Amino acid sequence: ARAAALAGSTGPGRTKDGHAVPLLANIGGPKDVPAAVENGAEGVGLYRTEFLFLDRATPPSDEEQERAYREVLAAFPDGRVVVRALDAGADKPLAFLPPPGEEPNPALGERGLRMLRRHPDVLSAQLSALARAASGQTAKLQVMAPMVTDAEEAALFAAACREAGIEHPGVMIEVPAAALRARDLASEVEFFSLGTNDLTQYTCAADRQVGGLAHLQDAWRPAVLDLVASAASAGIPCGVCGEAAGDPALACVLVGLGVTSLSMSAPSLPLVRAALAHHTLDQCRTAAEAARGSRSPDEAKRAARSVLPALT
Ligand code: PEP
Ligand code: MG
Repeated sequence: ARAAALAGSTGPGRTKDGHAVPLLANIGGPKDVPAAVENGAEGVGLYRTEFLFLDRATPPSDEEQERAYREVLAAFPDGRVVVRALDAGADKPLAFLPPPGEEPNPALGERGLRMLRRHPDVLSAQLSALARAASGQTAKLQVMAPMVTDAEEAALFAAACREAGIEHPGVMIEVPAAALRARDLASEVEFFSLGTNDLTQYTCAADRQVGGLAHLQDAWRPAVLDLVASAASAGIPCGVCGEAAGDPALACVLVGLGVTSLSMSAPSLPLVRAALAHHTLDQCRTAAEAARGSRSPDEAKRAARSVLPALT
């Protein structure tokens, strides 16, 4: 019944009082573009490029990369495409990029930007392919690094982007240290994208791959919301591309915390669009305060919903 009541909104993401919140799609490659377009995505907020690199003994050629990136950019001529640099690591092992040694805690190991620093040739080949793919296209290309910890890493990634001709570098906020010191990182890059899946895992020190700890993998946890608020108040655009963005009530809370865009798997777009369309920015802020004033994920969920009339 709720789905029916909330259905029917189309067009760009905005709150009831007209505050724009671009709604973007998470994709793994060109094959995911049609579903994104059908569900009204205004662009891509997370292009997980790992899929190009998985299950192969050698990296994809420069041409193969360029072709895949170009295809995605061409699908959103009026939008943006946020591409994530290769997020390899012990949890997403690549045959040609083995971890440097046995890692007792892969989630805490050499992954994301940490791995790319060890293989600058892989990073520069990817960034160059992206810059070539974007040339002559009208979509805005933004490129972000995964698993960034501090301003020094953010600066290093921004420099690599500029060298390759990428004009809009950003970083994912997935590590609590980066969220807490978001202002330091904000002076190095143009935008943030919160990876709430990893941010939750690291905030709760609970491996997201361990089934028995699934109850700790909940972005409604007030401690996670506090970190979101910290990142979203650092003075640069701050999106969310973790699972949290696809939960209609939590999406309203995130907007209330200052998040500026939401990226999710395509099927989640209509309900999130509708939830925003039914609430004002002030109502989202009230929901955010209610959630942060709670002591547990369940309490936060109840408190937020109680002040979001279309979702109660
Ligand atoms: C995240 O961590 O929230 C995220 C979007 O990245 P991934 O799930 O691919 O690690
Ligand atoms: Mg992540």
